[in-house]
Amino acid sequence: KTSDFQHMIDAHSLAANFYSHLLLNTVEGEKALYYLEQRGFSRDLIEKYGIGWSLDDREVLTQLLQRKKFEMKEMERAGLCVMKNDGTGYFDRFRGRIMFPLHDDNGNVVAFSGRVLSDSKEEAKYLNSPETPIFEKSRLLYNFHHARLNVRKTGKVILFEGFMDTIAAEKAGIMNSVAVMGTSLSDTHLTKLKRIANQLIICCDGDNAGWEAAKRFALLAAQKGLDAQIALLPGKMDPDEYISINGGEAFTEKVLGNPYSYMSFIMAYYKRSKNLSHENDVLQYIHEVIEELATKVSPVERDLMIRQLSTETGVSSNALNEQIIKKVGQQA
Ligand code: ATP
Ligand code: MN
Ligand code: MN
Ligand code: MN
Repeated sequence: KTSDFQHMIDAHSLAANFYSHLLLNTVEGEKALYYLEQRGFSRDLIEKYGIGWSLDDREVLTQLLQRKKFEMKEMERAGLCVMKNDGTGYFDRFRGRIMFPLHDDNGNVVAFSGRVLSDSKEEAKYLNSPETPIFEKSRLLYNFHHARLNVRKTGKVILFEGFMDTIAAEKAGIMNSVAVMGTSLSDTHLTKLKRIANQLIICCDGDNAGWEAAKRFALLAAQKGLDAQIALLPGKMDPDEYISINGGEAFTEKVLGNPYSYMSFIMAYYKRSKNLSHENDVLQYIHEVIEELATKVSPVERDLMIRQLSTETGVSSNALNEQIIKKVGQQA
């Protein structure tokens, strides 16, 4: 029902304003505000992204929603409130977290992601709203409503793993980035991006999870017919860390300015865990790259990659070519 949708959206808008007020104007929000300042968030950035703070209190939002005559069953379905175990009432889902509103394509707040102030083993770093009638994880891209126009203008979109990276990118003057909520990229996400961009730059974290995500994202994008490149970060840094250490200009020029094609990324991916002065590693590496070359690549790209592979391993291009022909033959 449309009106249920509208109630949920109204409640999120009220909650976002409330959280923002708590962060910016109250003593209880000072610690969180300090945390954000330490991470380089300006007041403008905090306001533009609507960032807030949920009190440690169990029921402040619930009480506010009740005062404003929202129906509690509906607020539970909207993911803002949770029913008490004994069924006697409701409490707030988000407590003691920095609140990042998640917007739909029209700019309505439809969900939240809440971050703890200090990383600990006990509590998950981020708590997201559950899937609700107004929030589908596989649809929502963080910052899409802000970035859309800039993406259309440039034809180019940058995709991050975490919304913190999108906010950091904005500090570096990059206005055409979006982020998935975690590490899954859906067909719906890609359809949305393909409609407004012809070039995609995937920029995942430099840790293992990030490399795996980048590989998955790149394959999905290629299957979707998007021209995708992969920007790699040195070490295990993520884009936000890189920008805070090296600055926005370095990020724009060295990271985004030097993106890898799918195939050169794949070679870097397989090379990452190997020592090419060991013969076993060399053989394994050749095997893995040839597997890719035999299936997913144009003849020209194949030729380029074979030359690179030959230089890296000392195996002749002829031998590598023969190996590929054998491989293709097996598949036919
Ligand atoms: P920060 O810089 O604040 O640590 P981050 O963006 O670097 O944040 P990552 O650990 O790299 O965080 O995770 C990337 C994304 O994955 C987050 O934006 C979030 O959407 C999702 N995510 C990470 N940890 C969790 C979690 N415990 N529960 C739910 N989602 C999570
Ligand atoms: Mn990560
Ligand atoms: Mn990260
Ligand atoms: Mn980070």
